[in-house]
Amino acid sequence: MSESHTNHAFRLRKRPNGDLADGDLELVTEEVPELSDGQALVRTQLLSLDPTNRIWMSDIRGYMPAVPIDAVMRGLGVGEVIESKREDMPVGATVSGFVGWQELVLADDSLLEAPLSVLPDPLPAPLSAFLGAIGHTGITAYIGIDNADLKEGETIVISAACGAVGSIAGQIAREKGARVVGIAGGPEKCAHAVEKLGYDVCIDHRAGDWAEQLDAATPDGIDVDFENVGGPIMDHILGRLNIGARVSLCGMIAEYNTYNEGGEHSGGLTNIGQLIMQRATIQGFLVLDYAARFEEAITHLAGMLGAGKLHYDETIVEGGIEQAPAALAQLFSGSNMGKLLVRVSD
Ligand code: NDP
Repeated sequence: MSESHTNHAFRLRKRPNGDLADGDLELVTEEVPELSDGQALVRTQLLSLDPTNRIWMSDIRGYMPAVPIDAVMRGLGVGEVIESKREDMPVGATVSGFVGWQELVLADDSLLEAPLSVLPDPLPAPLSAFLGAIGHTGITAYIGIDNADLKEGETIVISAACGAVGSIAGQIAREKGARVVGIAGGPEKCAHAVEKLGYDVCIDHRAGDWAEQLDAATPDGIDVDFENVGGPIMDHILGRLNIGARVSLCGMIAEYNTYNEGGEHSGGLTNIGQLIMQRATIQGFLVLDYAARFEEAITHLAGMLGAGKLHYDETIVEGGIEQAPAALAQLFSGSNMGKLLVRVSD
């Protein structure tokens, strides 16, 4: 008979209205049933905090089903197999995928939304990088730049420039020989964007005159917008697009906390008509749709990393799974630098 295990998991008790609040999620303690054939038990090591976590909690028309009320909160992460009755997932293997906001995951393909994948042994890069620079956020940056067909000498603007996606997108854009203009919150992030990430210039969107600064930084207009934020920043960028510009619409984090119960939300762009005037295109994309190109993207990113041409930052919140809700809030206040993770266990 195998050892008994106790799990701590966050279950979604109600859909947030506005910012995530106490009572939306509940931390519960549950016994893990004994393993059956075809199951493995995974201990989560690192949980990825992603802006889309807030989308998954809401019942707006999304790209994945809303997390059902009372279900364990959906989340990506990496972990180690600690018990196994599966040949493809031996004890000691490192796995990655939808582990959920919990310490222990029963890896049974019939129970999980998507199977966990086993990472290479030995790992070719630090474990955390599989959730960031060479994981889903790095791949998002690669695909989003590729979709925009960015050319040498063009001007690209990247919002959330020091975030998990933006920081990698900026460096790929620089590699392509573009003039790379970042937008980030605060002078510290802006200095980092220029000094460490290679942006030509970075605009602090918390400065009162950010719009004038952005105009001054893009005297020849904007050819590509790698959009992570939406809201007034995106609206202003739309007003500066050049003829034939491309908007690679990756995310609109400025809106996510308005995705309220019942599918209500607010937003609105006044300069959307500029897409017509400038014969510009806008392409929303989801990294999940590009599984066939993950290997190509990872090879490229790993190549940049190996050549010392890719700097990546991480904010790792210590203190276990109980830190997940407070950590998620960091994405909306902007207190993370680079990829935001919670260390669930060592
Ligand atoms: P980040 O690491 O970039 O963290 C979010 C950042 O957004 C914050 O650090 C903050 O940076 C900025 N921010 C938050 N609220 C606002 C606001 N109201 N106005 C301006 N800036 C704000 O997160 P990710 O890199 O994980 O995600 C970035 C974007 O990419 C998100 O919109 C996300 O949904 C999207 N995404 C899309 C994917 C896809 O497949 N399409 C896949 C992965 C992510 P600052 O301090 O600079 O303001």
